Amino acid sequence: MRDPNAADGPPRLRLNPILCDGVGYCAEIVPELIRLDDWGYPIVERRPLEDGRLQRLARRAVAQCPRVALALTAAEDTRGS
Ligand code: SF4
Repeated sequence: MRDPNAADGPPRLRLNPILCDGVGYCAEIVPELIRLDDWGYPIVERRPLEDGRLQRLARRAVAQCPRVALALTAAEDTRGS
C-alpha cells in the first residue's frame, strides 16, 4: 500500500459519500476536520494535514469507519470531498 506521506507531501482526508451511512462516528474522533450536516452526514475538511496530531486522529477515523468510507490520500488528489 502506498504511503500517503511519501513524495506527495502531507495527506488529506477524503470521504466516499456513497459508502457513508451518516452515523457520524468519525466527527466524534476528529471534530477539527469533520463536522456533520443537518442529516448527520460528514462534511470533511479538504486541506492537507500538516499537523501530526491531526494526521493521527484522521488515521484513527479512517481505521474505525465501519463503512470504509474515509481514506487518507495524497494532498493533490482532488477526488471526493
Ligand atoms: S464513520 Fe464512516 S460511515 Fe460513519 S459517518 Fe463517518 S464516514 Fe460515514
